[in-house]
Amino acid sequence: IDIPRIPLTGGVALPQVGLGVFQIPPGDTADIVRTALAAGCRHVDTAQMYRNEEGVGQGIRDSGVPREDVFVTTKLANDAHGHDNAITALEGSLQRLGTDYVDLYLIHWPLPAKDKFARTWEAFEELQRAGKTRAIGVSNFRPVDLDRLAEEGGAVPAVNQIELHPLFRQPEAERYHRAHGIVTEAWSPLAQGDVLGAEVLTDLAAKHGRTAAQIVLAWHVLRGRVVFPKSAHPDRIRENLDVADIELDEAELAAIDGLDEGRRTGPDPATFQG
Ligand code: NAD
Repeated sequence: IDIPRIPLTGGVALPQVGLGVFQIPPGDTADIVRTALAAGCRHVDTAQMYRNEEGVGQGIRDSGVPREDVFVTTKLANDAHGHDNAITALEGSLQRLGTDYVDLYLIHWPLPAKDKFARTWEAFEELQRAGKTRAIGVSNFRPVDLDRLAEEGGAVPAVNQIELHPLFRQPEAERYHRAHGIVTEAWSPLAQGDVLGAEVLTDLAAKHGRTAAQIVLAWHVLRGRVVFPKSAHPDRIRENLDVADIELDEAELAAIDGLDEGRRTGPDPATFQG
């Protein structure tokens, strides 16, 4: 299966489509990860707060795919901000994953009211230098938070993982990322399934002989984003990985852009306290 990759600073190549495991029960995770890898997936997005890192590590080992061929992302839990806590937190994640490095480590939420993320980021830079993570990035950071990191003299995050789907497109955030060389990862890329009945999408699906989910994922990929839709069903997992050959022209992409309602499905990073 053909899955395009985006090079990150430091020589790591990030597969543009992967598997997200938020809300996959810990006991089911190894099986689902193994199924995805067997279907050609080489990118898994987990987090300390998802409580399924052990299953992710087990699934990778069970798959027989060499560890170095899988791009593994995990994220710092909201209660682990601060320099020393962050160092300890990644050590715990590595133990649960059963690996000695991850490919990408993210600050899960900025929690601006706590005002700790800049100090946390210093620890992330140390963890990268120590080889515990190949790349470092952030999640749910607003442009104002990214400006703050820059003012503190920190390295530019390789990626920012934000809520982004046809109903909530955040074009100003994406413009900021592009201007600063930050890769945009789109979480809830399918709006948790809520957008798939939109007529624009069902029409495009019929026209291209694909599913509405595939059309949305192809739109993300063609717009240069990274996605890791969540599914626990083998047929949907395979369907979601198989989108790189879908050709949408600019008018079709713009029609999907036009579904934007500025409507979040998740928390607002400005006020979310963890
Ligand atoms: P999603 O947009 O991936 O939607 C998943 C849901 O869409 C599934 O539960 C299913 O109902 C439906 N679906 C999936 N594939 C389908 C298909 N082929 N056909 C029809 N319906 C289909 O939403 P998500 O799970 O919230 O997000 C994906 C990943 O993003 C998560 O697993 C996680 O890794 C990441 N995420 C990160 C954050 C963050 O704060 N950084 C927050 C939420 C999610």
